[in-house]
Amino acid sequence: MAKKRDYYEILGVEVTADDGQIKTSYRRLALQFHPDRNAGDDAAAHKFKEATEAYEVLADKDKRSLYDRGGHSAVDGSRGGGGGQSVDLGDLLGGLFGGLFNEGGGRRKAGPQPGRDVQIIIDIELVDAARGIKKSITIQREDHCEKCNGTGAKPGTKPTNCKRCGGQGVVIQQQMFMRVQTPCRACNGQGVIVTDPCTQCRGNGKTVGKRTLEVEIPPGVDTGDRIRYQGQGDAGDSGAPRGDLEFAIRVREHKFFERDGTNLICQWPITFAQAALGGPIEIRTLIGEKIKYDLPRGVQSHDVVKLSGHGMPGRRGARRGDLMVQVVVDTPQRLSPDQERLYRELAELDKIDVGPPPKKSIFSKLKDLFVPDETPAKPESDPK
Ligand SMILES: [Zn+2]
Ligand SMILES: [Zn+2]
Repeated sequence: MAKKRDYYEILGVEVTADDGQIKTSYRRLALQFHPDRNAGDDAAAHKFKEATEAYEVLADKDKRSLYDRGGHSAVDGSRGGGGGQSVDLGDLLGGLFGGLFNEGGGRRKAGPQPGRDVQIIIDIELVDAARGIKKSITIQREDHCEKCNGTGAKPGTKPTNCKRCGGQGVVIQQQMFMRVQTPCRACNGQGVIVTDPCTQCRGNGKTVGKRTLEVEIPPGVDTGDRIRYQGQGDAGDSGAPRGDLEFAIRVREHKFFERDGTNLICQWPITFAQAALGGPIEIRTLIGEKIKYDLPRGVQSHDVVKLSGHGMPGRRGARRGDLMVQVVVDTPQRLSPDQERLYRELAELDKIDVGPPPKKSIFSKLKDLFVPDETPAKPESDPK
């Protein structure tokens, strides 16, 4: 089977895209590849199915969060039947196939447009999510062109009024029984047209600039959390506000600690002797604290020990989670002669047949030959 494409890639949106952007993008694809418009076109049918599947997941807050963490395999089980379509297309595409009232539509309003939101992903380690961290992030964003003050017109010249809309930025069209107001396409809704463009920004009114800022990531953040700075995104048209700046957090997986909400889970190796006899152990937490714990006698492998308050911090002062330590009895794979003897004695006590001791390798036989043991081996009863 071919590798499944990334859902964000299928919809052509950023990982940080909001619900509105995901919906808009899916709508565009659904319209383009809808079977009603592409009868008999298998490639289009496939694209339609693919986009619908991606939308099903990304439009659902819970499924999207699962997908962000675990990819396709994390959400495959949650989609009923695999191919079932649960998206209400009528609701989503309502009116668009009729087309009449949405012709030339879109949500674009007349007049100066506000700046776009700038969205950036910040990858952090789990330990940084536990402690909180300040990150110095350099972003690129659009600023007003300094040379023309954002007008786009060469200094000393002025944009001229749009002739098509008379400087209104909108045109009124009579459609059937209705008068429909749409943004003027000649001037892009601006009302003015730059005839002599600024050389610095080529009439755009904006230039891309770099800016470095300190982002304070609070303790307890998780993948999918967002930090938003209002009015710090791309510059808008002259007279319109800047967009927002939004950081989306992605927490990397840890080799040893697994996160479950505010709880942390880890495995801790113990020996047979510790399992049987108990005794103090020292467990290291994610942030490096050493916690002493008295292991009870007779603990079973995979028993879980709870260390209260040593998990992830809660958000906004909420209670800290717990560290769930699963003790795992670590079976030794190489035994010293003394260990071999003691384990065999234990087996004898329990009246368990553990078979004959392992045969010596050629290498150790050679060693025996050149460095003779003071107490020669008696393999039948005593392996020493
Ligand atoms: Zn300029
Ligand atoms: Zn116009």
